[in-house]
Amino acid sequence: MRILFVSSEAYPLIKTGGLADVVGALPPALHKLKADTRILLPGYPSVLGKAANLMPIAKLDYLPQIGNATLLQGEMPDTKTPIYVIQHPGLYERDGTPYQDSKGLDWVDNPLRFGILSHVAAVLGSGFSPLEWKPDILHCNDWQSGLAPAILHFFNTTRAKTVLGIHNLAYQGNFEDAWVGLLGLPPQSYQPAGLEFYGRLSFLKAGISYSDAMITVSPNYAKEIQTAEYAYGMEGLLTAQSGKLHGILNGIDSTEWNPKLDQYLIHSYDRTELVKKSANKEALQNSLGLEIDPIAPLLAVVSRMAHQKGLDILLNCASSLIHDGAQLAVLGSGDPILEYGFNQLAKAHPGRVSVTIGYNEPLSHQIMAGADIFLMPSRFEPCGLNQMYGLAYGTPPVVRHTGGLADSVHDFGASAPNEANGFVFEKTTTLDFLAATCRAMKTFHDKKAWAKLQQNGMKQDLSWESSAKKYLAIYRELIS
Ligand code: ADP
Repeated sequence: MRILFVSSEAYPLIKTGGLADVVGALPPALHKLKADTRILLPGYPSVLGKAANLMPIAKLDYLPQIGNATLLQGEMPDTKTPIYVIQHPGLYERDGTPYQDSKGLDWVDNPLRFGILSHVAAVLGSGFSPLEWKPDILHCNDWQSGLAPAILHFFNTTRAKTVLGIHNLAYQGNFEDAWVGLLGLPPQSYQPAGLEFYGRLSFLKAGISYSDAMITVSPNYAKEIQTAEYAYGMEGLLTAQSGKLHGILNGIDSTEWNPKLDQYLIHSYDRTELVKKSANKEALQNSLGLEIDPIAPLLAVVSRMAHQKGLDILLNCASSLIHDGAQLAVLGSGDPILEYGFNQLAKAHPGRVSVTIGYNEPLSHQIMAGADIFLMPSRFEPCGLNQMYGLAYGTPPVVRHTGGLADSVHDFGASAPNEANGFVFEKTTTLDFLAATCRAMKTFHDKKAWAKLQQNGMKQDLSWESSAKKYLAIYRELIS
């Protein structure tokens, strides 16, 4: 079975969120199950700089607007998963993130940059591919490669079966309809049963309309996106296509996110030596300028600061939690209003609140190990990885009952004693969140109950293996 993953991110080459973690970890997990998996990525500077053994293997001709580009082949630096990289300096070799410039504005030519990614993916999945290696499955991910199933659909040649991975339906890639012509898409594809979404070209809708199967990142989110509350106008479409929609909970990369093997920790530990977790707490308090206080429940957030993540709710009640004895460590960046709010909070509570604005991979691991309680008051969360990292690190999460959080976190009190692994609240309100966090803080002081909660989380099999088997089963069904 040959599978080509198409993605705008893959850890450790380029990452802005959970998509990168999934594309970094799922292909090697499938490889362990004997699948031949490869990844197609745009040639951003960090991809060109970090990938191993990159070399040109083909010239890609007849690409819309840009004419041609070079296809490179190489490997992921650690897992050795083979990768293909589209090299085109004008499109991809820029400062900033894959999606935005250094001022936080979307690149105006994003439709072209990801239209080309989709176009190249479609070519590699078709009989027109310049490569001998031809995939059975083209597994696209999110809007950035959503056009590929549509382009492939209109090619008159043999083709791979297409899968659309939906990691977050809130990002749809909707652009001016002029892009239909500019990207060389067939005019007949631009209609409500195709690429058109309320008068605009929608990359995500293209993937939904033309893929052979869709897989989203948790069973609960697969249900939620068929409702108006979570689907941003696409609920009708997704309900109509629900026969090809699946939900598989993400795993975690248990070499990267394992407190026993974690390269960023001074004190590694597993569930038989939780006392060493306290040493990580002390090291974290020290490095963040928090008071060294083993008794204070250390609450933590590592997150994009976006409306989705519900961090405004935490801001509403953070002072009250601090007055109740908590400390708070926050790492994240995004919405300037939230960044400002958290910076003000840190100023108001020196020694009790630490706020780091920015992206910091080592610190994210140190927080996961050193904190006591991980906070995720998300309004929606397709899967969420941080709550699972929290479980693996003995840092029970407080989460809202939504998406993959509902699938992976079982409330202390409402679940069987051997299953409870965190704290769950229902409504996106300060009151509900505060009540759940206070319950967590109270339980933290009950040493026996807390140890049981930590053990339950750390014992869970969160690895990719069982999820990868479910992906394989869907691929097999598609090509049988
Ligand atoms: P999303 O994909 O919506 O951002 P997930 O929980 O699925 O949320 O994944 C987020 C990933 O990004 C996790 O690996 C998390 O540790 C990481 N992350 C988010 N913000 C930061 C940050 N500021 N610094 C380091 N890692 C971060």
